[in-house]
Amino acid sequence: MAKNDGKAKNAPRRNPAAKLEEVMTGTTVFNVPFPKDLSVLKTMSPIVVKYPYYVEYIHSYGQDSPFFAGLANRKLLGTRCAKCDYTYATPRLHCTHCGGETDWVELPQEGRVHTFTTCYYGSEEFLEETPFHLVLVEFEGVDTLLLARLIGVGGPEDIKIGMKIRAKFRRNSQLRPTDVYFVPAG
Ligand SMILES: [Zn+2]
Repeated sequence: MAKNDGKAKNAPRRNPAAKLEEVMTGTTVFNVPFPKDLSVLKTMSPIVVKYPYYVEYIHSYGQDSPFFAGLANRKLLGTRCAKCDYTYATPRLHCTHCGGETDWVELPQEGRVHTFTTCYYGSEEFLEETPFHLVLVEFEGVDTLLLARLIGVGGPEDIKIGMKIRAKFRRNSQLRPTDVYFVPAG
């Protein structure tokens, strides 16, 4: 490059000493070991850095919204087919048997354990709560089962198929399926 002799009017201004400000956020390291022999780099361990990661996800409950409004009001809602009467504990807006449109109905808040499982591992959200029990609840007059948490028992040996359980609701609704859970009845 030509030297800037200070005479050229439109010459770019250069500052060889310019530098970005150092920051102390993120992964800040000093004196990272580095071999003289570059072939050694192939044996190097992977570098792992940690970043905060945040996503705000906007999700619509759509036609399932009444179910969550029900939970917030301590009501368990299912749907019933207007054509064939098939009744869903987990609401469906249309019947899987006949295709008919369903109506919202209130479910009993007492049911029985149809089957259960104890989770010793879970997704990240539930990992801290392990181990926990999941039950499929059967209700009188309802044709499908509801998946929910069972608390108030010790180990899986305390849960019996057919045992009576009743619904409880979080006092402060989170508008999530976990707003309802079950405890042994009586
Ligand atoms: Zn139907």
